[in-house]
Amino acid sequence: MDGISCDRCGKGLLIDEEVRYQVHIVVQAAYDPMEITREDLEKSGHFDWKTLMESLSQLTEEEAQDQIHRELRFDLCPPCQKLYLTTPLPGLTEGR
Ligand SMILES: [Zn+2]
Repeated sequence: MDGISCDRCGKGLLIDEEVRYQVHIVVQAAYDPMEITREDLEKSGHFDWKTLMESLSQLTEEEAQDQIHRELRFDLCPPCQKLYLTTPLPGLTEGR
């Protein structure tokens, strides 16, 4: 993340490599406001704000933030960039 070394293998980027790659990952909660209508809210009756706020307050500020939005940045050397692209999500073997 310092732009000086590869975050995966630790190799120096500026000295050893002409090219470096930046990986910017954004993980955010996806809400679709169109799916919740006023009718739905009224039908569901009592949405329990108190319980929600209590459950959120038991998280640290960082945990609460991570549930909504998280950004990760990595610097990669070319070999690690190739490897990363073959498996951007560990455990996910298809979908490219
Ligand atoms: Zn590397």
